[in-house]
Amino acid sequence: MGGTSTGTVAPRHLPADLPDRIRHYVGGEHVDSVDGTTFEVLDPVSNETYLHAAAGKAADVDRAVAAARRAFEDGPWPRLLPRERSRVLHRVADIVEERDARLAELESFDSGLPITQALGQARRAAENFRFFADLVVAQTDDAFKVPGRQLNYVNRKPIGVAGLITPWNTPFMLESWKLGPALATGNTVVLKPAEFTPLSASLWAGIFEEAGVPAGVFNLVHGLGEEAGDALVRHPDVPLISFTGESRTGQLIFANAAPHLKGLSMELGGKSPAVVFADADLDAAVDATIFGVFSLNGERCTAGSRILVQREVYDEFVERYAAHAHRVVVGLPHDPATEVGALVHPEHHAKVMGYIEIGRSEGRLVAGGGRPEGFPTGNYVAPTVFVDVPPDARIFQEEIFGPVVAITPFDTDEEALALANGVRYGLAAYVWTNDLRRAHTFAQSLDAGMVWLNSNNVRDLRTPFGGVKASGLGHEGGYRSIDFYTHQQAVHVTLGEVHQPTFGKGRRP
Ligand code: NAD
Repeated sequence: MGGTSTGTVAPRHLPADLPDRIRHYVGGEHVDSVDGTTFEVLDPVSNETYLHAAAGKAADVDRAVAAARRAFEDGPWPRLLPRERSRVLHRVADIVEERDARLAELESFDSGLPITQALGQARRAAENFRFFADLVVAQTDDAFKVPGRQLNYVNRKPIGVAGLITPWNTPFMLESWKLGPALATGNTVVLKPAEFTPLSASLWAGIFEEAGVPAGVFNLVHGLGEEAGDALVRHPDVPLISFTGESRTGQLIFANAAPHLKGLSMELGGKSPAVVFADADLDAAVDATIFGVFSLNGERCTAGSRILVQREVYDEFVERYAAHAHRVVVGLPHDPATEVGALVHPEHHAKVMGYIEIGRSEGRLVAGGGRPEGFPTGNYVAPTVFVDVPPDARIFQEEIFGPVVAITPFDTDEEALALANGVRYGLAAYVWTNDLRRAHTFAQSLDAGMVWLNSNNVRDLRTPFGGVKASGLGHEGGYRSIDFYTHQQAVHVTLGEVHQPTFGKGRRP
């Protein structure tokens, strides 16, 4: 059941000039791990190892942090004028745009994302660089005057070596979301990309070199989270960690960073609701909620993976939704017709399939429910729809991170709100209604960092990005990213007389 396949399974597409080995990038050099070890990287269509990546450990992180620290303390980057850094970062964006097709090809091959969606993510990566390159030039800071007595201003400074730890869903774009503001503000960085998808991250080194980023400003250490990631989190010379990944990894990182009192930005998991009221434009709501959970293979932090539908339109919605889910095109990631590709890794595939088995006893399956026809191998999952799912079901409460959706009916606004907020996560929410007052009232009561009214996840890079509850701590986006990656030092200047009481005035010298 469910998911239209693009037909017979073609042999997997192997991009030309695929490397079979990738290394760390430290102080402007490509280097192997100190202990010489590597780990295997699979492609999600064949699940065969196509690449060996250097497996970073504490010694490799030490080298990378030392290089980044040297570049921060002695190099030009933190001291350049914002306009000068901005020019370099616009060149980064130009290069990413010029190579968008190649980037998308490699990303799609490594992650299983459909090629058209990988292309969109490559362009978004370029836009992230442009946005923060512009923002630091336009940056203003506060100054305050106490008339006749004091002038006070904010001196904004880069912090030092930023540790950036990223997940495997849309890897290149999410790396750019951290690299852009960290570099624009004059920090130097060590990036630890996800071990399932290291391929596109390895392209940053060449892009930065070509754009004119000085050696040591960008450093990259591949490796497992518990090894390379953990060493970065615990490194005393890394005052900032920006992390995107699972909530339980975030908890661990929070604890491990605590002894060093690091600055932390945590963008974590989600189980976001899409609430469809009876007065909504159902055509638009069905289209958007299909896209909202099945795009990016459902491996999307802001996926609308719970759909709450008002009882009056519930049956109609379910019928149309299930029919639509059957039409979603599952295919090889490199095929431009593909809408859902292969999940990133067999371990993740097994996790998603496990949830589908759980869902069979928790809800009523109306589409999908396992492997799509025509894909006996590879990490394929048919777009899967469970309806009549009760709120205590695991498939309602837990993040599945695949093409699986739970649909639940509600009667009143109060009930919809309780259902929407009744999970541990609070990343995004989507509301479909034509009643203006209800839309705003409802949106403001949602436990969600980001709400879209009558819309899918369409980002405005100036707005705050972040979650509440188990979905994250802190916000990035626009000036909030600049705030995270900078110190804001307050400098106080006395005007006129020195204003202070003199101690010991009554005693003789
Ligand atoms: P993950 O937490 O398993 O891994 C993320 C990164 O952390 C990887 O680079 C990994 O190697 C590293 N890591 C793992 N253990 C570590 C440790 N002990 N110390 C330091 N680093 C460690 O997450 P994932 O499976 O790669 O990504 C999927 C998750 O990311 C989902 O939960 C998704 O919702 C979330 N996500 C959130 C956002 C957001 O903006 N809120 C965006 C994308 C993805």
